[in-house]
Amino acid sequence: MNITFNEFVDNGLYVASYHLGKDIHEITLEDLEKNIELFSDKVYSFIECGRYKKIANMGFQNSCYTQGPNKGLIERYGKKAKLENIKSKFRLLFRNLGDEECCSICGKYNIKITGTDKEYIGMISRSLMPNLTSNTFFNCSNNLQFLDVCPICLFLSMISILNIRKSGNLLIYNSEDKEFMRHLTIYRQKENKQEIAIKAQEENNGNTIDLEEEIIHFLDCQIWTNKDIYIYIVNNSGQNQVYEDYIITEKNIKLFKKLIKNNYIDEFSNLNLFRFLLADTLKYKYLTYLIDLENEELRCSVDLFELIDRDISLLSKEIIRIIRDICYEIYSIGHENRIQELKLISSFSSLERLINKYVNSCKTLKDKNLIIKEKSQKLLNDKNWRSIKNRMIAHFIILKEVKNV
Ligand SMILES: [Zn+2]
Repeated sequence: MNITFNEFVDNGLYVASYHLGKDIHEITLEDLEKNIELFSDKVYSFIECGRYKKIANMGFQNSCYTQGPNKGLIERYGKKAKLENIKSKFRLLFRNLGDEECCSICGKYNIKITGTDKEYIGMISRSLMPNLTSNTFFNCSNNLQFLDVCPICLFLSMISILNIRKSGNLLIYNSEDKEFMRHLTIYRQKENKQEIAIKAQEENNGNTIDLEEEIIHFLDCQIWTNKDIYIYIVNNSGQNQVYEDYIITEKNIKLFKKLIKNNYIDEFSNLNLFRFLLADTLKYKYLTYLIDLENEELRCSVDLFELIDRDISLLSKEIIRIIRDICYEIYSIGHENRIQELKLISSFSSLERLINKYVNSCKTLKDKNLIIKEKSQKLLNDKNWRSIKNRMIAHFIILKEVKNV
């Protein structure tokens, strides 16, 4: 089977791969169907474990994970009725496998149109796959009689629960990086086994894992290469759905690795910068966030500032170099109000005027060219004037701090 880029289906596939001991490409429909008992057992023990119970409610409400078995099953199986209910619902999915319509997620002709079980039709909804929205339904006479998602994708989505954790809402990852997904699955399944074995209960913090801590852990263990990682925060219980997707880009992963390697990760975390990295807005926000304009100082160490600046600045390395050079010259000729002057800059043309003023005073006081024409053109052609202004302020602060040391 192939990955689909649907996070629930893909995680289900990696979960299946782990428990079947097969590469995802080698897994067949028969493998899944033959092992319904195995998967039902795994899911049942997971959702019966106090620590993971809520994941069933938050991810698959109104499914066989949360709804009780019927009277017949209770009479027949007693305590095991819930497990039997899961098995029977999984079997029901496979009974309704067909070849008449194409699945919108996996692209396979797995959908049966004629002769589908009534119970199957009644069961299929976003209870089995979070974020299945109405546009994935073909709505017949206001009854949801046809779903363009196949029973296999629904089954895989349901077993993806074994790779889900809580981080406030539910947390699930996805990536094209197969090794990352494989390692993540091994990590999750081993933890599931341990927690189930000791009958772990929910803790006071509600078993919420800290996303930033977990990501640092993955990077520390080097199970994370440089491919983009997608993070989904989901709540699929009741009326209020939550579905947020984030991406940690290759560039941000590299920055994160450097922060860890150079021991700046604690400082970075304490500054609460992870949320910008997650939203991929750090490159726009770090300058204004890390510069305390009022007190004219940096909120972080010069080294951390420079590491972030070097890696993700919107300005090119050449422009940063030009800014460094001219700031050093301006600093050396005085201009006590330089930060104040820069703070007042509100347009590209006012920045241009200020730089011209510096050029003139450098000429008068030092008989020196502050900046050669070619570099000046490069600097003043850059449309990121706000970044240039902020970068200049930062540099003056750094010069001041370095001098104080
Ligand atoms: Zn499918």
